[in-house]
Amino acid sequence: MTSTLPLNTSKVNAAHKLSLAPLQVPERLLLGPGPSNAEATVVAAMNCQPIGHLDPAYLQMMDEVQDLLRYTWQTDNELTYPVPGTGSAAMEATLANVVEPGDRVLVGVMGYFGHRLVDMAGRYGADVRTMHQSWGQVFSLDTIRAGLEEHRPAVLALVHAETSTGARQPIEGVGALCREFDCLLIIDTVTSLGGVPIFLDEWQVDLAYSCSQKGLSCPPGVSPFTMGPRAVAKMEQRQTPVANWYLDAGLLRKYWGRDRVYHHTAPVNLTFALREALRLLAEEGLENRWQRHQDTAEFFWEGLESIGLSCHVDRAYRLPTLTTVRVPDGVDAKAVARTLLLEHNIEIGGGLGELAGQVWRVGLMGANSHRDRAETLLTTLEKVLH
Ligand code: PLP
Repeated sequence: MTSTLPLNTSKVNAAHKLSLAPLQVPERLLLGPGPSNAEATVVAAMNCQPIGHLDPAYLQMMDEVQDLLRYTWQTDNELTYPVPGTGSAAMEATLANVVEPGDRVLVGVMGYFGHRLVDMAGRYGADVRTMHQSWGQVFSLDTIRAGLEEHRPAVLALVHAETSTGARQPIEGVGALCREFDCLLIIDTVTSLGGVPIFLDEWQVDLAYSCSQKGLSCPPGVSPFTMGPRAVAKMEQRQTPVANWYLDAGLLRKYWGRDRVYHHTAPVNLTFALREALRLLAEEGLENRWQRHQDTAEFFWEGLESIGLSCHVDRAYRLPTLTTVRVPDGVDAKAVARTLLLEHNIEIGGGLGELAGQVWRVGLMGANSHRDRAETLLTTLEKVLH
């Protein structure tokens, strides 16, 4: 006997019912601004059956991930955990937790992601001020001091690794300036974590965020966030609740801390993947990993020169993780990137914002920061260009 459904099902609309073959994803070499390829063991970790987000085995994994993130960022911050979502979610978490309506936030804009910080801070009611630098350049300590003197902000936000330009903003000395002017320092480490030296505590950074899909070589979807004692103190003195429930660190610390109070259903498989990615990073050691990224990048930059191409950013501030390559006159940048992808399975990025059409963006990050990958791109690019 068949049981009876409580509704008449004959009215199901089948207009959107696709009949598909099982999923097949093309294999690409991801040498763009991200995501980069994930390590095989990271993909394998993600393929495990989920477990409950309050399972003791999962709780232990959460502790491990937090500690490994502290190592990766070189911080002792208690509030250090991945937030669900991509880098933009973690970016939003930093602003949402410490910005109250009317707070003055000064943003150093030297590319596309500085503009995103401006947009987000405004949405949390900040009185947003900006300092601008041309795309490919970085701010000097003197300029930053002048900005702090002029605007007297409660928060200064800088992008450590500006993915739209390939420039590395030096952070040494900025934290001390922020203490002098009694303001918090947020830095964006989306394209630097796991590939470029970072010493958060030594640099006196109060809040930072990153992503999983670049230097950590994990799929996108969980994003590292950290908040130091000065930022926690500001959050605890808020007059208004954090305007984003999902990213409220005051609630999330009850889940990531000892209390283990349910907040949301954690994306457990992504945590498995992140743990494996961070485990691999620790096994390699930060010093070795940073050196590997620098060596691969220098090999790539020399190779570019030998095929007649040049870099957009001065060598002193060039990111090892992301290189902006000048597009030669008369070359259709989009057509080249398309040929690389569709005929050679290699993804590189085009220019963003002010640099659209002028540069390609090449990421040599995490699992892809190796000479053979750089060589594959150089050889193929030369072929496509000639
Ligand atoms: N900040 C920087 C410097 C980035 O490069 C990106 C993304 O590439 C983001 C923030 C935003 O991260 P997501 O795209 O993962 O949301």
